[in-house]
Amino acid sequence: MHYQPKSDLLENRIILVTGASDGIGREAALTYARYGAQVILLGRNPHTLQQTELAINQLQKKPASTLLLDFAHATPESCQQLAQQLAQQVPRLDGVLHNAGILGEIVPLAELEPHIWRQVMQINLDATFYLTQALLPLLLKSDAGSLIFTTSSVGRVGRSGWGAYAVSKFATEGMMQVLADEYKNRHLRVNCINPGGTRTKMRASAFPQEDASLLKTPADLMPLYLYLMGDDSRRKTGISFDAQPGRKPGPASA
Ligand code: NDP
Repeated sequence: MHYQPKSDLLENRIILVTGASDGIGREAALTYARYGAQVILLGRNPHTLQQTELAINQLQKKPASTLLLDFAHATPESCQQLAQQLAQQVPRLDGVLHNAGILGEIVPLAELEPHIWRQVMQINLDATFYLTQALLPLLLKSDAGSLIFTTSSVGRVGRSGWGAYAVSKFATEGMMQVLADEYKNRHLRVNCINPGGTRTKMRASAFPQEDASLLKTPADLMPLYLYLMGDDSRRKTGISFDAQPGRKPGPASA
């Protein structure tokens, strides 16, 4: 995407990023901070989250803060508690990037262990829903809130072997569309981003034979992540965007 954001695009914006400890989420958190946002980092590992926090604080912009939540054990109650804790720290949320996720196992559905199915659904879908419900009141306090979910090309067209992960991403697209319709007359836009094959740990576990140097890095995707968080996308809602438009799904080739 050819998008040149203003350097103060996210000044005075308060943005929460899930899965901010690594990969795309870490890069998005750093990028939002670089463009002026106060970023809340959410994840399950205090050590890796702290490293993202440190990297943001070294930018000498707005300091970041962290919130701990393991999506594998998240419940509606724990998400409500977390939102109450957050409401004591910030007056509102201007943006939420739902990015945390797991791959599960790449095997045919006939062979997928039910406990892996449940784990993927719990982390990619249920916890994301509980957290969204809990954070909506803070998002609705913004004059232009942006709620972003993370999808995948296998969440639009089913592909052999992608099992629970693909199904969880189809459901994520559905959740985005329902919410976008429900809030179309309010100050809240709801969209999805499909990163496309990107050089991260998750990608390496899905395609261990792939030459990772042929893949875009999380930093390459950031124009779209910025566009959807900033004011230039105010009128966009209910859309599933591609961070790498035109990229063919599947392994990278030279
Ligand atoms: P990574 O595996 O690099 O990062 C995943 C993030 O999710 C990490 O911060 C991880 O935390 C967090 N996470 C995982 N499990 C939990 C949990 N139980 N509780 C809280 N946080 C958790 O993946 P990517 O950066 O590649 O993926 C980010 C998003 O992009 C995902 O939603 C993925 O489905 C999507 N995506 C990625 C593509 C790619 O090619 N990379 C392509 C299409 C979609 P921790 O560090 O503690 O494990």
